[in-house]
Amino acid sequence: MTLGPITGVVSTLVPFHRVLQQRLTSLQDERALMQILSERDSLTQLYNRRVAEEFLSTCVADAASKSGVILFDIDHFKRINDTYGHQAGDIVLVAVAMRCSQVLRKTDCLARWGGEEFFVVLQHVGAEAIERIAEELRLAIASEEIEPAGSVTASFGVSLIKSNDTIGSLLQRVDKAMYAAKTSGRNRVMTDKSLS
Ligand code: GH3
Ligand code: MG
Ligand code: MG
Repeated sequence: MTLGPITGVVSTLVPFHRVLQQRLTSLQDERALMQILSERDSLTQLYNRRVAEEFLSTCVADAASKSGVILFDIDHFKRINDTYGHQAGDIVLVAVAMRCSQVLRKTDCLARWGGEEFFVVLQHVGAEAIERIAEELRLAIASEEIEPAGSVTASFGVSLIKSNDTIGSLLQRVDKAMYAAKTSGRNRVMTDKSLS
C-alpha cells in the first residue's frame, strides 16, 4: 500500500487549514474591534451614552443591585475652548477621562454622557460611599493643573437608585443635584436631597 496520494492531500490541506485559521482569527479580532468601537466614545475612549443607558436600565430594573449614579460637568468649559482653542478643550476632556478612570473600579461604568458631561453608574454602593467616590473624582480633576488650560474643575450630582425609580425619575434627581452644585459655586459635590 502506498501513502503517496494521502500525503499529497494532507500536505495541500495543512497550509489551507492554517490560512483559514488565520482568517478566522483576524475576523474575530475585527469583530472584537467593531464591538469596542461601537461601545466607546472616540475621543476619550470611555463608554458612550448608549452603553451607559443600557447599563443603567439593568440597574434600575434590579433595585437589589443597590446602584448609584454620578453626573458631572466640567466648569466653564466654553471658556477653555475660547481661550486656548478647541484642541486644548479636547486635551482636557481626555485628561479628565483618564484621571477619573484611575479612581474607579473596573466594574463601574464611566461614560461620556455628551460634550463635557460624564456619567458614572456604580453597583453595590451606599450614600456615604458614592459621595466619597464623587469627592475623589472631583479632587482627581481639580488637584493638578491640566496643560495648557491650567486649573480645571467640575460640578457633581449624586443619587442612588430607588425601588420605584424609572430612568427618567433618576436622571431628573441627579441632574437637579448637579445643577445645585453649579448654582452654589461649582467645583463641588451635591447629593440628591431626597436621600437625606
Ligand atoms: P458651566 O460651568 O455652566 O457648565 O459652563 P460651560 O462653559 O462648561 O458650559 P456650556 O454649555 O456653556 O459650554 C460647553 C461647551 O463645550 C460648548 C461646546 O462647544 C463645548 N464642547 C462640547 N463638546 C466638545 C468637544 O468634544 N470638544 C471640545 N473641545 N469642546 C466641546
Ligand atoms: Mg460645563
Ligand atoms: Mg454641559
